[in-house]
Amino acid sequence: MARFIFITGGVVSSLGKGLMAASLAALLQARGFKVRIRKFDPYLNVDPGTMSPYQHGEVYVTDDGAETDLDLGHYERFTGVSARQSDNVTSGRIYQQIIARERRGDYLGATVQVIPHVTDAIKQFALADTEGHDFILCEIGGTVGDIESLPFIEAIRQLRNELGRENTAVVHVTLVPYITAAGELKTKPTQHSVRELTSLGVQPDLLLCRCEHPLPATERAKIALFCNVRPEAVIQALDAPSIYAVPLQYHGEGLDGEVLRHFGLEAPAPDIARWVDILDRYNNPEGQVTIGVVGKYVGLPDAYKSLNEALVHGGLANRVKVAVRWIDAEVFEQDDAAIAAELEPMHGILVPGGFGERGSEGKIASVRFAREREVPFFGICLGMQMACIEGARNTAGFPEASSTEFGPTDNPVVGIITEWMSKEGLQQRSAEGDLGGTMRLGAYEAVLSGNSHVSSIYDGATRIVERHRHRYEVNACYREPLERGGLVFSGMSPDGLLPEIVERPDHPWFVGVQFHPELKSKPFDPHPLFAGFIAAALNKSRLV
Ligand code: GLN
Repeated sequence: MARFIFITGGVVSSLGKGLMAASLAALLQARGFKVRIRKFDPYLNVDPGTMSPYQHGEVYVTDDGAETDLDLGHYERFTGVSARQSDNVTSGRIYQQIIARERRGDYLGATVQVIPHVTDAIKQFALADTEGHDFILCEIGGTVGDIESLPFIEAIRQLRNELGRENTAVVHVTLVPYITAAGELKTKPTQHSVRELTSLGVQPDLLLCRCEHPLPATERAKIALFCNVRPEAVIQALDAPSIYAVPLQYHGEGLDGEVLRHFGLEAPAPDIARWVDILDRYNNPEGQVTIGVVGKYVGLPDAYKSLNEALVHGGLANRVKVAVRWIDAEVFEQDDAAIAAELEPMHGILVPGGFGERGSEGKIASVRFAREREVPFFGICLGMQMACIEGARNTAGFPEASSTEFGPTDNPVVGIITEWMSKEGLQQRSAEGDLGGTMRLGAYEAVLSGNSHVSSIYDGATRIVERHRHRYEVNACYREPLERGGLVFSGMSPDGLLPEIVERPDHPWFVGVQFHPELKSKPFDPHPLFAGFIAAALNKSRLV
């Protein structure tokens, strides 16, 4: 049976519980255990799919087409284990299921209540789909004390009784702030937050204390005494210079060893070679490239979390540092001088995924700049759509070309799709349907043309599988004129109907993809498209 590790947060939000869970999972994995990580989100949205990136950061899409919390991206990047729909649940989804059951009459006349109905549903979610795993790590979103998270904490309390203390652990992540005026670290917030948790019936086994200054033994002992844990179970978690330094740092502080001690398990020391190599590449770059990302949500780095990480991975693959310049597409709309001033210093230009018309003209202008100036260009999802519109307008003779996402157009080079094939058979949507969960989502195959640039990027592969999240598609009816203008359709859906990849063979590196390769990139396995893009940018930097 799998053992369960619950990860809660106290004092403040943004303590990096997700990274902590991912790092602990990576360390347990490095000791030979099979791990899975899942996230409980207490908010009432059914999933984050309809939430603004400004509210919630990126929406992370899984192979099985779930729109999930961005922490699942950390989990995948740190463990290589593909996340699934069953790894993320929200209060909204749980209530949706319960209310649907209640309407069907499944509760046989019973009064439906938070305890036991909601807590039972949470426990079922925690226990489902765990076969063959040694550890299931469950991160609880939010901060202990939030009204929304109460049912989740109660479910943990019940699960600990049902599964036994020896099969469960609670790791509580807290903050130990440093008060500059007093020159002291303060343990009181941690004490209060543990008191809050224990008042709900959950005694933490380990405390992971985030701090900006080292935690002296005296303070550790004090926290241990007041919070009823062993001093060795009070783990110092100093701010790390890079997220990829976190697993090694926590191992050095004894986190994984203490977790195993709690469970009474023996295991070989972790094989940390992978993390040592990543950190070596990260800390000792042999050069630097600057990439301009022309997007819409540039004010909030979390909105492009996986993209940012995938660019870092592309740098690791080439042993260079990648400096990312986030450029608001709206800034240089219609103004060629502004575009040149912003983009001339760039060694590569990337137009990422996005929604809506705002900024689209600036994105199209940056595609044009990259094409004409032979700057490596990478278009992702909306970025590929913009590359096709730019090609249609400026190289294929359709000056009015646009996307129906931006309003009616006579030349819908990008249009809504209402039917497509998936593994589950024919999928159908109406253009007026709900916005939630109605896109082409998750893993789909693409067939690559034999002698294309992308096929060489993918090491000669002719069939690939990548993750999608979009409602609109490039219209294959425009293939011929676009190809005459130099934009070649080098990847298509297996039925030959949906363009998946476009490229310009007469350009040093110009690739647009309808999918999101950034979601599958890992520090120890950089995505070939990002490795290739950064390599091309490196070439460009040597020419300048
Ligand atoms: N807005 C576009 C669509 O829905 C692109 C989406 C995206 O970039 N993820 O098709």
